Amino acid sequence: MMDLEKLEQQLSELPLYFYSFIDPDGLEFSQRIRYICTAECPMYNKTWACPPAVGEVAECEKKCRNYSGCLMIGTIAEVQDIANIDETLATRPAHETITNQVRDFFRQQGVDPYVLSTEACAECQRCAWLDGQPCRHPDRMHPCVESHGINLIPTLEENGLVFQYGENIVTWYSLLFF
Ligand code: SF4
Repeated sequence: MMDLEKLEQQLSELPLYFYSFIDPDGLEFSQRIRYICTAECPMYNKTWACPPAVGEVAECEKKCRNYSGCLMIGTIAEVQDIANIDETLATRPAHETITNQVRDFFRQQGVDPYVLSTEACAECQRCAWLDGQPCRHPDRMHPCVESHGINLIPTLEENGLVFQYGENIVTWYSLLFF
């Protein structure tokens, strides 16, 4: 059983822009998001953290809904030019570090959360998926939210988190199911 008060105390010490406990049943899983992975993402079929390795959307949905709780965390970063993909992506590692710190808060309490974060896994230079080998660091790898077919927009809207940013603000979100 998580001591949520202690967790929230720890969260308050991180540079998070936002966090909220959400109901996994309220998340929207969509084949449309999976279609974008398949049709548009260069990482499709390249890592264990991406489709098709993560399984069908229905399986991902079942897995996520099996948890009774979910913590959504968000960070923001300001960039010179949001259209500059390199500059935007350079703000991602800081978000991943914070995601791992939050994951560790759970682990310190003996709970291993199921973590979804951003983009494809970049732990190894060459993902073992490409060689038909098992993932080398299953304890560290996080599929991204979209890989599971999750359309986060309605959840962001419910939490008042859409269309409130300035032009050159990058936002990143992670979900930790527990
Ligand atoms: S930890 Fe390595 S093997 Fe596992 S998904 Fe990430 S890149 Fe692939």
